[in-house]
Amino acid sequence: MSFSDKVLTWYDEQGRKDLPWQQNKTPYRVWISEIMLQQTQVATVIPYYQRFMQSFPTIIDLANAPQDDVLHHWTGLGYYARARNLHKAAQIMRDDYSGQFPVDIEQVMALPGIGKSTAGAILSLSLGQHHPILDGNVKRVLARFHMVEGYPGLARFEKQLWQLTEELTPTACVQQYNQAMMDLGAMVCTRSNPGCVSCPLKDDCQAFFHGQQKNFPGKKPKKDKPVKQTAMLLLRQEQQILMYKRPATGIWGGLYSFYELSDASQLQQKLTELGLQASSEQQLDTFRHTFSHFHLDITPLIVDVTPLANTANINENNRQLWYHLSQPMNVGLSAPAKVLLDNLQNPAHK
Ligand code: SF4
Repeated sequence: MSFSDKVLTWYDEQGRKDLPWQQNKTPYRVWISEIMLQQTQVATVIPYYQRFMQSFPTIIDLANAPQDDVLHHWTGLGYYARARNLHKAAQIMRDDYSGQFPVDIEQVMALPGIGKSTAGAILSLSLGQHHPILDGNVKRVLARFHMVEGYPGLARFEKQLWQLTEELTPTACVQQYNQAMMDLGAMVCTRSNPGCVSCPLKDDCQAFFHGQQKNFPGKKPKKDKPVKQTAMLLLRQEQQILMYKRPATGIWGGLYSFYELSDASQLQQKLTELGLQASSEQQLDTFRHTFSHFHLDITPLIVDVTPLANTANINENNRQLWYHLSQPMNVGLSAPAKVLLDNLQNPAHK
């Protein structure tokens, strides 16, 4: 039996055929499901899909809806760019395609948020057009079956897998075959603990033969994160520490934190700006806070300050506040600010 025959026979017996988007199949309905399923499990998607289709049964309904309404229907699914792209693409279809879903794969791929595999999936699953697909599930099955070296995102890995999926996709029953490959990846050839003993491909699967399932597909090598440095100024006036509210965007957006210096020589300038003068300074040990993209080495500097006579430039409307150590305040704090304030409140726990 050929690869595709094995996959199709398995699909007849085990594949999923009752999902909501598999009923009354249209490119529009399949498109919405494919986008929702990109980062999300089937069981989570189903109620979202049903609500979405109830509110936006056609491309025109979706295109004409306010963006807030579309985003509201997406609330909880995450990756909101997907919803914004759906909305934009529906408006393009309304304006350029008379509210119809285009049936030419190049035109579909030109819509926002639709890549080659998703375009192929929409047109093959809804209209039976002959297009191979290569979503995460298919990549995993093929990478294991052929023990393809590399990892998703690496150009030569992607190229090799596209060649394989093109060769293996049959000319007949492409609709069922593509659905079967996605199901096989999601239900049998799962990321961890694949169910090889019940897999229709086990007799010829290289990874199964060599016991290497866990090593395929490979993982993207982790890059060392860059390390940045900062000095955090804990400007202390008796039992109060000066804090400011960070801008809404960027790290710790909208949270209260301490003023920072990239270089300790800027201290005097900062104090002058704030209308303060230092009476003593104490440097604490440097500690590391790690973000997704970099490490931040933080050196706290406690500076006891007094306002220069009648010139202190601190005011709460200016997004600044004096944080009372003895009466913790109900404000959002950056994680390092919270640690440092806790240590100042309870020095014994340092
Ligand atoms: S035999 Fe195992 S590793 Fe190979 S395709 Fe099937 S489930 Fe995946």
